[in-house]
Amino acid sequence: MKSACYVTILHYGYQIDSVRMTSGANKLKDVRHLIWDIDGTLYKSTPDLIEAIRHETYRRIATGLNISYEEARRKFLILYDKLGGATATIVQLGLDRDLIQKAVDSVDKTKYLKPDLQLQDMFEVALRDFTHVIVTNTSRQGTIRTLEILGLSRDLFLGIVTADDVLRSKPDTEPFERALNITGDPAGQHVSIGDREKVDITPAKMLGMKTIFVWGTSQVADASASTVYDVPSVLKRWKCWA
Ligand SMILES: [Mg+2]
Repeated sequence: MKSACYVTILHYGYQIDSVRMTSGANKLKDVRHLIWDIDGTLYKSTPDLIEAIRHETYRRIATGLNISYEEARRKFLILYDKLGGATATIVQLGLDRDLIQKAVDSVDKTKYLKPDLQLQDMFEVALRDFTHVIVTNTSRQGTIRTLEILGLSRDLFLGIVTADDVLRSKPDTEPFERALNITGDPAGQHVSIGDREKVDITPAKMLGMKTIFVWGTSQVADASASTVYDVPSVLKRWKCWA
């Protein structure tokens, strides 16, 4: 129903920062699987939560390298800017790759997050025709905890790929390749959705997935959405235009 598509586009158009169609637009109707980052994607990270996680990270680096907190912070930020991934940064510093997961898991997220009925509704209604796979650099324990706090059932997801399941975390392509193994379908039938270009968008594109950047604007991703709740309207628009 082409007319219904036009209504949707006009209705939701103002919420989307930008949608760039690519030469592969005719393939967009084949999208079946959504690959979700969790932290900073399924919820918008608050400055308080980010600060709490960073504090725990720097504290652990300082202890691990036997340097001051400030020195630990400085070393982390310089390398992180270069490498783009927190776990990759920790490994480069010569520390245990579990450090980030431990730092994230040590923060009590119930202080910062709460059940999200709009998000639950999005998965159960607007996105019910897609299969969902989580691809996160967080530990399995931390991932399950976050889903519980947000009120999302694990049953919504065909698979959950965490830092515990791979040798190399994002921005490596390994976690995304694991997701492809789970669905068993070609990369072009997947959309990676995340809040960071270097870890969620670029490696997924390298494998041939479509990409949606959330909570901001990206020139790298196939589309950007102002909030995670706008993802269904982006997908609907793609389907209409395909
Ligand atoms: Mg994220």
